[in-house]
Amino acid sequence: MRIPDHLEGDAGGKVALLDLTYAELEDLALSLGQPRYRAAQIAAWVYKHLASDFKEMHNLPLALRERLAEVSEIGRLTPLEEITSQDGLTRKVLFSLPDGHTIESVLLHYKRRHTICLSTQVGCSIGCPFCATGQAGFERDLSPGEIVEQVLYFARELQGTGQRLTNLVFMGMGEPFLNWEATWKAVQAFTDPRRFGLGARHITISTAGFVPGIEALAREESQLGLAISLHAANDELRERLVPLNRRYPLEVLMEACRDYVKRTGRRVTFEYALIEGLNDSPSHAQELAGLLSGLLCHVNLIPLNPIADCAWRGSPKDAVLAFQRELRKEGVPVTVRMDRGLDIQAGCGQLRSRRGTCQAK
Ligand code: SAH
Ligand code: SF4
Repeated sequence: MRIPDHLEGDAGGKVALLDLTYAELEDLALSLGQPRYRAAQIAAWVYKHLASDFKEMHNLPLALRERLAEVSEIGRLTPLEEITSQDGLTRKVLFSLPDGHTIESVLLHYKRRHTICLSTQVGCSIGCPFCATGQAGFERDLSPGEIVEQVLYFARELQGTGQRLTNLVFMGMGEPFLNWEATWKAVQAFTDPRRFGLGARHITISTAGFVPGIEALAREESQLGLAISLHAANDELRERLVPLNRRYPLEVLMEACRDYVKRTGRRVTFEYALIEGLNDSPSHAQELAGLLSGLLCHVNLIPLNPIADCAWRGSPKDAVLAFQRELRKEGVPVTVRMDRGLDIQAGCGQLRSRRGTCQAK
């Protein structure tokens, strides 16, 4: 029986099982002369029992297991390096992809949560000058399976310790909305009860402000969490920090956020990295409060993490607390987030695939 063209991998290679939608998994089962329900069995093995080899799938006939191994593969990422922070709470893995590129993903342990920070692209084309991923430039988009596999990898690791993954954040390398088709397909795999089965509310998409993406989420009335990397409340400063602001200035971005809240009833999280002497004064806080006024939202403040070759520094603690007080005074819900895993370069914006240079002056 022939594998349908639309399922076949690159250059006629093996089918990448993790790239497939559920319907495509059914197509694969049918094309192998199997009943449709085999898709449910394979999905359960891959996404629930976290099998990494067809040999483990013992309720499938042996001949089918062998045929599946011939025509398809479950995973394509190879862990090259794993490193755990000194406090043992953050773990970063460097994966190599079949074409030799590398990506990083992070597992964060909290008291009751276990969160994975996922990458969606090799590098990033937006080029925020304070971000190690942006410094390195853009190489390519990840496939849906390459996104999904980061989660399966850590889920397997957690399974061994009796812990369960609770949250996913698209806050690793890349801009999820610029690789939306693959990201959305991965999200479907995570939320589909027949596959990974995680509630959409436990998944957060972070964006530098790609408005068509925010609009698409709003249209779907999706329950995914939305985080906007804001970092400045006026266009002049934001253009320096997040170059995408030239295409989608604050007025347009805020309108999309208001519409998202209206349609989904969910609050928007705004990430604000405090940079010493640049965006961290009490008047910047007032400007931010003005911009967010009347919007259902929450602000996460985080002192900028150090990255190589970047002149900017995180704000000192006093300035961070003063900024928070100012926002509170104006009635804006705000938390200060002390970033994690800095000793292993696993903090926000520290992930990278290769070295680059910062343009901050
Ligand atoms: N491209 C998306 C998803 C990546 S999330 C986005 O930008 O939202 C990475 C988060 O870390 C973003 O909020 C980003 O602005 C922030 N970040 C990048 N570099 C940082 C740094 N050096 N210190 C603190 N936060 C940083
Ligand atoms: Fe890209 Fe986000 Fe880094 Fe900016 S902060 S360069 S958008 S990954």
